[in-house]
Amino acid sequence: MTNIASNTLDKKKLQHANPKYVTKVADLTKLSDAEREQLAEVENTYRFRANDYYLSLIDWNDPDDPIRHLIVPHIHELNEWGKLDPSEEHKYTILPGLEHKYHSTALLLVSNVCGAICRYCFRKRVFLQSSDDILKDLPAALDYIREHREITNILLTGGDPLVLSTNKLRNVIEPLLQIDHVRIIRLGSKIPAFNPQRILNDPELLDLMRQSCTDTKQLYTIVHFNHANELSDVALQTCKAIHQTGAVLANQTPLIRRVNDSAEALADLFRKLSFVGIPPYYVFQCRPASGNQSYAVPIEEGFQIFEQARAKTSGLGKRARFVMSHATGKIEIVGLTREHIYFKYQRAAKDADSSRFLVCKRNPDAYWLDDYDPPLESHPLDCYQ
Ligand code: SF4
Repeated sequence: MTNIASNTLDKKKLQHANPKYVTKVADLTKLSDAEREQLAEVENTYRFRANDYYLSLIDWNDPDDPIRHLIVPHIHELNEWGKLDPSEEHKYTILPGLEHKYHSTALLLVSNVCGAICRYCFRKRVFLQSSDDILKDLPAALDYIREHREITNILLTGGDPLVLSTNKLRNVIEPLLQIDHVRIIRLGSKIPAFNPQRILNDPELLDLMRQSCTDTKQLYTIVHFNHANELSDVALQTCKAIHQTGAVLANQTPLIRRVNDSAEALADLFRKLSFVGIPPYYVFQCRPASGNQSYAVPIEEGFQIFEQARAKTSGLGKRARFVMSHATGKIEIVGLTREHIYFKYQRAAKDADSSRFLVCKRNPDAYWLDDYDPPLESHPLDCYQ
């Protein structure tokens, strides 16, 4: 009884204190010695990083706890699979840390650190010592954006932009706000899930968010909740505080094996997000990235889970699209029949692929567009005229 009471008290304290980082599997004292020994091998290949707040969301008595699967390494990560750059971002890299794939949107990879490391991460390359993917020359990136008037949206990503100090973030955001044609700044961040205290305990950051919402500019915070268990009281307070700055929130999540690969888990996430005014924006097909085979769900199985989850949700909770971030564009999986699967480009790297509709023969073992035979039909936008 005392133990339960003090555990509850400890959890409450963790909700508000700045979390302490845990960067060695050896420090996961809830695991057995044998588990820690086995996972040390994984850790040598793919770094481990978590914090005491996020680990406190795990029910260690449940071997299938979704947060545990999300954050604790798994031996299957050592299986050979996938690529370090599965969406071929290098093709769209203008200079280190600046990507321009879709005409109106540019990405700035401003950080090579995240609040913790998701085991399925598709950007593991930025965590490598040898990585040359992070923005180093901000003035050059700003010049490029100034010269390209078609860029109306800037996505700050990484890594996670909200691990930067508020001053560093201000140095990136303020000059962007000075560029007339930049109308939207997006923060792509899992900090509201991993370390909500980082935002809630920093009034200057909330001020910076407020200053980024003006008559002509809009800040969006694209949060990254994968499971409803991440929506703790402090995470919800943090989202509310962000809302109050005038920023718009939306959620994106990949569909991940053992984390949210059931209609119930995904519907629960959609519903609870809709209750706090966060529209589900994208559900991503897990990118085939090095080390994440055991986290991926085949596309056709994923589509069925996604549709069943939407069927359990009100209109406000079912605004997400199920998409894959393919090298050629953001491709929505729009339907299945007994024989065929239907795709549509939501964003395309080449104008000729804009809104292109594809019909392929079904393949239940496909994890990516490249696993399908060439399309049976492929209709560009102008074929509808
Ligand atoms: S938040 Fe994104 S970039 Fe960071 S570890 Fe998770 S998947 Fe990777």
